[in-house]
Amino acid sequence: MPVLPRASSPSKIAVIGAGIAGLASARTLVQAGHEVTVFERGAQVGGRTGSCETPFGTFDHGAQYFTVRDARFRQALATAQGTFRPWSANAVRVLDPHGRVAEASLPAREPHFVGVPAMDAVAREWAQPLLHAGSVELLTHVMRIEPDALDRKRWQLQTSGPGDSVHVFSGFDTVLLALPCATAKALLRASSQAALSRALDDVEVAPCWTLMLAFPNAVQPTLGTLGPQWNAALSTHHRITWLARESSKPRRSPVERWTVQASPAWSQEHLEDDEPTVLAKLHKAFCEVTGIRAEPAYAEVFRWRSAKTMTPLGKPMLWDAQTGLGVCGDWCLGHRMEDAFVSGLELALAVNAG
Ligand SMILES: Cc1cc2nc3c(=O)[nH]c(=O)nc-3n(C[C@H](O)[C@H](O)[C@H](O)COP(=O)(O)OP(=O)(O)OC[C@H]3O[C@@H](n4cnc5c(N)ncnc54)[C@H](O)[C@@H]3O)c2cc1C
Repeated sequence: MPVLPRASSPSKIAVIGAGIAGLASARTLVQAGHEVTVFERGAQVGGRTGSCETPFGTFDHGAQYFTVRDARFRQALATAQGTFRPWSANAVRVLDPHGRVAEASLPAREPHFVGVPAMDAVAREWAQPLLHAGSVELLTHVMRIEPDALDRKRWQLQTSGPGDSVHVFSGFDTVLLALPCATAKALLRASSQAALSRALDDVEVAPCWTLMLAFPNAVQPTLGTLGPQWNAALSTHHRITWLARESSKPRRSPVERWTVQASPAWSQEHLEDDEPTVLAKLHKAFCEVTGIRAEPAYAEVFRWRSAKTMTPLGKPMLWDAQTGLGVCGDWCLGHRMEDAFVSGLELALAVNAG
């Protein structure tokens, strides 16, 4: 993270969400001398860079890879050496309906990187100092932000979890929401912060149904007979927008595994469908695009209610120095891991500036 001057008056700060944006904020603010606690409803840090572990190996069922354009992101990644590697997939563009290849190799505009051994490795590395200091409350869902019962100029958080427990964490000068847009809006509304919630009204984020398939009986050298020669593809199939062979990523299990992302429009249309129905439809599309007709030994779907930002906020973050409330996340700027990092960093810089 960029080196910040020590804060003249350290604050007690709550960061809600331990995805890339929340971790970028929290680490920067700790470095500036603030007392930071991160609240994360999941069992792990990393948010939508999360990976799914199965008996056949991991699936990057959220972010697939990342790119690096901002010098500050590059600098922060240098502190996490060894947790990511270049991934030079032979990616193609395929056409509906039978996987006809339209462009044999997509132009490599910039290097693509993946976390190793899984996408969330970078987030886990960045979280280490915070976890070590006991500054991350995992399995802790923030239900409401409200004025502190003992000091109305400060904030307290009502939380639920771990398990059935409920807690109140109090005495915060500042509360930062590093959440998907819809989640941030819901929490702000539940916390009677309608004005800040309304500021997010124009943001649009599409959902994504993700299919994960494993074929342990296929062995790498015989792949030519099992499926396509490419390892990743942008697809114009009406159901599918992206396919990637997980086993082509560095330091992954060699078991033949595919992650398939449904298109934003199809995911939206089928958002409330049941999992078996979605699985069957996406699997059929996968067979059409790849030509792989073998029965998978493992097949699961995962529904991301917030995946790809269609209309971003158009500014890096929102910060209200009067109330001490701030909001960040990838959707402020775009739909990439790097956008989440820049948003979280910019919010921390604004908070530290007062
Ligand atoms: C299917 C998919 C594919 C993607 N592909 C790519 C890609 O190829 N390349 C790329 O660069 N980006 C990709 N992205 C986007 C990338 O994953 C995000 O930009 C980035 O991870 C967002 O980080 P964030 O910190 O803003 O939010 P998140 O990662 O969503 O973090 C928010 C965190 O808040 C927690 N939380 C939510 N509510 C509460 C609460 N009430 N209390 C406490 N904690 C809470 C969540 O558990 C989560 O950990 C993809 C995303 C998806 C879903």
